[in-house]
Amino acid sequence: MELNSMTHNKLKEIITQRGEKGFRAEQIFRYFHQQDGQGIMEMGQVPLSLREELSSSYTVNNIKILHKFKSESDGTIKYLFLLPDDNIIESVVMGYAHGYSQCISTQVGCKMGCSFCASTKDGLVRNLTAAEMANQIYEAEKDLGVRISNVVLMGSGEPLDNYENVVDFFDIINSKLGRNISLRSITLSTCGIIPGIYKLAQENIPITLSISLHSPFDEKRAEIMPIAKKYCLKDLMEALRHYSDTTNRRITFEYTLIKGTNDGEEEAKEIARLLNGMLAHVNLIPLNPIREYNEGRPDKNHVLKFQSMLKKLGVATTIRREMGSDISASCGQLRRSVLEEK
Ligand code: SF4
Repeated sequence: MELNSMTHNKLKEIITQRGEKGFRAEQIFRYFHQQDGQGIMEMGQVPLSLREELSSSYTVNNIKILHKFKSESDGTIKYLFLLPDDNIIESVVMGYAHGYSQCISTQVGCKMGCSFCASTKDGLVRNLTAAEMANQIYEAEKDLGVRISNVVLMGSGEPLDNYENVVDFFDIINSKLGRNISLRSITLSTCGIIPGIYKLAQENIPITLSISLHSPFDEKRAEIMPIAKKYCLKDLMEALRHYSDTTNRRITFEYTLIKGTNDGEEEAKEIARLLNGMLAHVNLIPLNPIREYNEGRPDKNHVLKFQSMLKKLGVATTIRREMGSDISASCGQLRRSVLEEK
């Protein structure tokens, strides 16, 4: 087990079980999550005997920057990180007027099979540990000399398919002994794993939940996202209403607009019906084509037309700003091209 994947409470448990004082757990947690420590034997404040004991039972996960790409057009930065087992993941940092936001990966690859997504083309390789999620932020911060204030779990992977590690990551990144990033500044994006949504509703973690909708019709949605065959929209909407009622948090619906596929008036009307009376808003994403799915990119007027249809129907809607298109910033594209080169 990785020492830097443990929450402060978990660390306290294993430290006190060894007959040590609880404050040692605080020292160790701060060392990894505040001071960017890299190794157990390097924890100078901790007695040598405890360091030796810990290093015989636990490991530390460190990741490295493999490549860094900067968009000429908007300054978006994309990292490829090398994991200890030589797997590669992506992460994107975007600068906004209110600070820096980072989109992190939660798995190596993904098994969900969404048709427009490059991350899933080779399936799921493995889950990321909590430390691997946090380290994407620490490495980017160190490299850029900035603080990340917003985190989006929308890189490669389905976060609710790696539930326990993701929840531990929230605990770690939000801890006052670490980066202390507000949970309200964290967004978890899911393709709609219903049991995970119910479980998350009980956790009392005030993150923003974001759902990949992409079509308000089951059949069409299943063509774009195979997971929709397992979880139909009726059950998904029930789970989301439960989530929103329990947490009182507004839900974001991500809608990748694909010209000629999901951009008609009947879609707009059905979205309005599904979201009626719910604390929700729709984020329109003009399709960013990948090689395997290279059709249907809508032009600006097209996107504005769909937005205006939704607005007339009373649906709060935003259009996602396109970031880093010159550096293949959308999900999984860069990792995949590097793997192919290899
Ligand atoms: S969009 Fe997300 S859930 Fe779907 S395949 Fe890609 S990484 Fe997985």
